[in-house]
Amino acid sequence: MQNDQFFTRRRMLLAGGAALGAAATAGAVLASSAEDAVRTTAAPAAGAQARPALGPSAFRLQPLTGDGPPRAAPRKLQVREEPILQISGRGRRMVLTFDDGPHPDYTPHILDTLAKYDVRAMFFVCGECVVANKELLARMADAGHVVGNHTWTHPQLTMLRRSEIRAEMESTSDIIEDAYGERPQWFRAPYGAWNRAAFQLGAEMGMEPLAWTVDTTDWEEPGTRTIVDRVENGAAPGVVVLSHDAGGDRSQTVRAIREWLPYLIDSGYHLTVPRRRV
Ligand SMILES: [Zn+2]
Repeated sequence: MQNDQFFTRRRMLLAGGAALGAAATAGAVLASSAEDAVRTTAAPAAGAQARPALGPSAFRLQPLTGDGPPRAAPRKLQVREEPILQISGRGRRMVLTFDDGPHPDYTPHILDTLAKYDVRAMFFVCGECVVANKELLARMADAGHVVGNHTWTHPQLTMLRRSEIRAEMESTSDIIEDAYGERPQWFRAPYGAWNRAAFQLGAEMGMEPLAWTVDTTDWEEPGTRTIVDRVENGAAPGVVVLSHDAGGDRSQTVRAIREWLPYLIDSGYHLTVPRRRV
């Protein structure tokens, strides 16, 4: 979308230029450095998929509509057989991900902590949670965070028909585009329950499947100290950390990140977001 209202948000997204190139290696994607663009551009350049100009004689040979992708259609990706579990690249880089939100009671506090340390993260949101919290996605866009698709109602996709999976994913990408300014480039199956249809549909919609390396299991509410220990003990180059900013009482998650985030930074880690190469 090229709506003027999104230019302010997009200036962050586009900072540093596009990172276009080969497909990511299996099981890992490149992390951007702190100086890199925090996102790649999602939409192809205007005209990139435009049909060539046709002379009058060509009208009968080639219809003017119906045989090409819509202008804003996502680029189809290679269908993976397993999700990406970690990021590649040199250095002590990690990716922070927060699932199931946004939630007005918890997400703003997490965003505050990320802002305090000038860190970018990924938020895999559920469409039904975005409806009443669009301003939180706008804030994520302004801060340079990456928003991914976590379905509309958080179902177990392996229990659904293909048409139902498609509806869950498409509706969520639609509301993300509305609230965030771009369609998501990343997808995460609820409960990590992937199936072939989810991989195929995600690729069709231009989204890469991202899983995680370290699960904080904060949804069990094990205590702030336990969550902090799990992140700090699991820290390693390439790790993708899973936390949750909704789905229950996440006050432990909010308190824990205030402890483990400065610890990771003091330990020399760059908290970054993955670079999509499409
Ligand atoms: Zn989830």
